[in-house]
Amino acid sequence: MPIQKSEAILLRRQDLRETSLILTFYTKGFGKIKGVVKGARGVRAACGGGAFEIFALDNVVFYERKKSELFTISHCDLLEFFAPVRSSLEKLAYASYFIELADAVTVLHDPHKEVFELLSHSLRLLCGEDSPKRIARIFEIKILGLLGLMPALGRCSHCGKALGARPSLSLLHGGLLCDVCGQSDKTSQPVMAGTVKFIEHVRSSGLEKLMRVKVASEVGRDLERVLRRFLDYHVEHRFNTLRFLKAIEA
Ligand SMILES: [Zn+2]
Repeated sequence: MPIQKSEAILLRRQDLRETSLILTFYTKGFGKIKGVVKGARGVRAACGGGAFEIFALDNVVFYERKKSELFTISHCDLLEFFAPVRSSLEKLAYASYFIELADAVTVLHDPHKEVFELLSHSLRLLCGEDSPKRIARIFEIKILGLLGLMPALGRCSHCGKALGARPSLSLLHGGLLCDVCGQSDKTSQPVMAGTVKFIEHVRSSGLEKLMRVKVASEVGRDLERVLRRFLDYHVEHRFNTLRFLKAIEA
């Protein structure tokens, strides 16, 4: 692979030996990549380090190393710092959750340009006045949909029949169940009709439009509960950022 260049969002940063860093990026063109920056800690100290801060949007130049899944990152220039997010503890916690979730549900070298767009767009929205909670729920639904993990809606995901008056969400089948199938599925969760409607809406609409949709507070709470259960069941990862979010929202 020749030298590559891409816009990328920094998901994770680990120290490596004395002066180097291992950076995990979600790139626009190549999906998630991991690479080493040599002498980066010196560079970081010299330039204020914006490009090496988590969820910074950078332009990265990288190339393959022999016998290693790690790339060498030769350039890393800051494009967008999302400064308003960093000056609010709540927004910072949400942004950190977005990148932790993106990291947890993606694998290396599996490009989804839409995931990159969703991540950068959500960080930009977080800089504004919209509710971080709302952006988070939309982010969860969209990223799960883009990666093919989102529950199938519309018909019973077990028997294929039309849904009854009280559909439930099967964590096992990753979709809604009719009244009959719901009774025999131990992983099924009750779900409000408004929640199903909102998820469908999110899947078919752009972010800006979704910021203006009115959502009843009980639907918001139901949505948060359902998505949390779904993510806990399907994503084998304990979210540090969620514990932090709970602590600051308490
Ligand atoms: Zn059924």
